[in-house]
Amino acid sequence: MTAYVTHLESAIDGTHLEAGTIQTMHNDRPLWVRYDLDAVRDNMTKEMVQQRPATIWRYRELLPPENDASIVSLGEGMSPILQLTRLGQHLGLSDFWVKDESQLPTGTFKSRGLCMAVTMAHEFGIERVAIPTAGNAGGAMAAYAARAGMEAYVFMPADTPAINQYECAMAGAHVYLVNGLINDCGAFVKAGQADMGWFDVSTLKEPYRIEGKKTMGLELAEQFNWELPDVILYPTGGGTGLIGMWKAFNELREMGWLNSENMPRMVVCQSEGCAPMVRAFEQGERFADFFENAATIASGLRVPAAVGDFMIMDTVRESGGTAVAVEEARIREWMALAASLEGVSVGPEAATCVGAAEQLVADGWIKPDERVVFYNCGASQKYPHVMATELPLLEKGQAIDWSQFGR
Ligand SMILES: *Cc1c(COP(=O)(O)O)cnc(C)c1O
Repeated sequence: MTAYVTHLESAIDGTHLEAGTIQTMHNDRPLWVRYDLDAVRDNMTKEMVQQRPATIWRYRELLPPENDASIVSLGEGMSPILQLTRLGQHLGLSDFWVKDESQLPTGTFKSRGLCMAVTMAHEFGIERVAIPTAGNAGGAMAAYAARAGMEAYVFMPADTPAINQYECAMAGAHVYLVNGLINDCGAFVKAGQADMGWFDVSTLKEPYRIEGKKTMGLELAEQFNWELPDVILYPTGGGTGLIGMWKAFNELREMGWLNSENMPRMVVCQSEGCAPMVRAFEQGERFADFFENAATIASGLRVPAAVGDFMIMDTVRESGGTAVAVEEARIREWMALAASLEGVSVGPEAATCVGAAEQLVADGWIKPDERVVFYNCGASQKYPHVMATELPLLEKGQAIDWSQFGR
């Protein structure tokens, strides 16, 4: 396998850095992975891709490892794209879809990014990794680190959903709870670096998680026969997926693989309980201020400061998109709406996309016949405390009044 990576490029000032060696950030800001896209086009065809197994690795030439032997895999991707006729009708949309990421390893799309980061760490001979996490990234890192035989250290807020705590511990990671938010967890990873010599796989602090999340965009394009939808609604925390998808679409466009010039309008969806990107967008800023007192049951979105804030803002603006903060109190309602109308296991983060769709249709920003896709980033089953509901309890042999249900 020849890798097609040419270099890494600073997202903040365009400085080129060498690939093929361990890199982190440049001037405390993220790096892009750049490819020789002409060579990719000459060596990979759509027909080849379509014949490969349905995992993220079907886009091998657009992914960074030098050697196939480096790949650490749990069979991640390709997630289903499902049309939501009933939910769409409820929202006033005739062409509404979900890309359902709930079926990926560890139950969220974090597996795409962490698969790639751990694969590259493995390629560089790294044996110890660490991460600050709002929950699911830690779970995914712990799983892939276990798969690679690496040592894993995870720092998460003390009120992170229980399943995230347990899944990391079960995978053999050293897990620490922190009285604070994800940025406070990040401080521990930084502080331990010198003594522990671990590699920090924080969101966008290494270049490869974006490349993993990019595959969400590659899959979407392929599943829609290389024509992109009009609008993409994305539950945004650190923004890796939004940024990664936009990168994917631009790479495909440059390769001439898209059948239409139509690029989607990218929409940041957040809860009003933690909406730093929405606030920055509304204020016309490229960099976002720290969001004080961040609180939301959509724990994956509880990211008060994002190191890739300017990349998120650039994506939204370049694409003609927007940013929407939805009512925190209605998140559970939107989860139940999606689950009961369509059977899709929509987590609280993705529920913000359902709320955003409702709002943007009402505002006329989305037209009823536009093709709209949202990402169901994680399975609702990872949030039993949010799903919890009172159910009737029967005593043995108890008589039930069936007439209440009619016939
Ligand atoms: C991490 C996470 C998000 C946010 O994803 P980013 O790409 O980092 O913005 C959304 N939902 C869930 C379930 C997550 O775990």
